[in-house]
Amino acid sequence: QPVSIVCVGMAGSGKTTFMQRINAHLHAKKEPPYVINLDPAVLNVPFDSNIDIRDSVNYKEVMKQYNLGPNGGILTSLNLFATKVDQILGLLEKRTTSDPANPSRKPIEHILVDTPGQIEVFVWSASGTILLESLASSFPTVIAYIIDTPRTASTSTFMSNMLYACSILYKTKLPMILVFNKTDIKDASFAKEWMTDYDAFQAALQEDENSNAFGGVEGGENMGGTGYMGSLLNSMSMMLEEFYAHLSVVGVSSMTGQGIDEFFAAVQEKAEEFRRDYQPELEKRR
Ligand code: GDP
Ligand code: MG
Repeated sequence: QPVSIVCVGMAGSGKTTFMQRINAHLHAKKEPPYVINLDPAVLNVPFDSNIDIRDSVNYKEVMKQYNLGPNGGILTSLNLFATKVDQILGLLEKRTTSDPANPSRKPIEHILVDTPGQIEVFVWSASGTILLESLASSFPTVIAYIIDTPRTASTSTFMSNMLYACSILYKTKLPMILVFNKTDIKDASFAKEWMTDYDAFQAALQEDENSNAFGGVEGGENMGGTGYMGSLLNSMSMMLEEFYAHLSVVGVSSMTGQGIDEFFAAVQEKAEEFRRDYQPELEKRR
């Protein structure tokens, strides 16, 4: 059975470059994926897509016609596109099953989905939700949450990014892989350590606080465990520990291809988890 991989992440985290990399990887293995681009505002898509939102909606025209700014234009384009979800599912259905009239054509095993640069447009919109839920009701679906590793190296950006990932997990209720991208610039071992060793993260927090001019006047005491911020930080750390327990984490470089095999191993694992834990829940909710 095919699995669909939906790439989400902050603007500039490398979703499109990552898509290009995993697409090339599957082509090299002679398992070409089915590729969907849902970013109406992207100028160049560096891979061949089977379905491209830009073929059916012109984002610039939508902005003009409805008198919208860029974000409203992207959102409205996505809304217009979401009305075609049945057609899309029909196409996917055809390509993921074998065709008796054409036995030489192998059914597709991976569906790759790229999403708009602005993460909230997809994750927090009705149309994004419709597209995602439709996919997940037809195929095992995993979220690849792409992270800009070099820009997540301080404890505060790391914490914010993890909280965001956690909110997406909660919102979508789909299995998630954290993809620490751009490891050619910065290795992801610090992140893996912070996620598995509670004390190591606490020590890093303490260190960042002490060297942060905004971290309280009394040598970081402000955040160091006393007061509102301290206790909030403790609670968040504990919450995140629970969050980490259900995640797959991989470090990749979309530039060099490092870590891509590991990513696909995680996809396999999460697809099984989807069938075992998530699918029964989804069916109950419907
Ligand atoms: P998106 O907005 O999430 O789709 O991000 P893009 O794929 O457009 O990438 C944003 C920028 O990050 C581009 O300049 C990419 O060349 C760069 N980038 C993406 N992945 C990597 C990577 O693995 N390593 C490095 N060094 N740069 C990357
Ligand atoms: Mg992109």
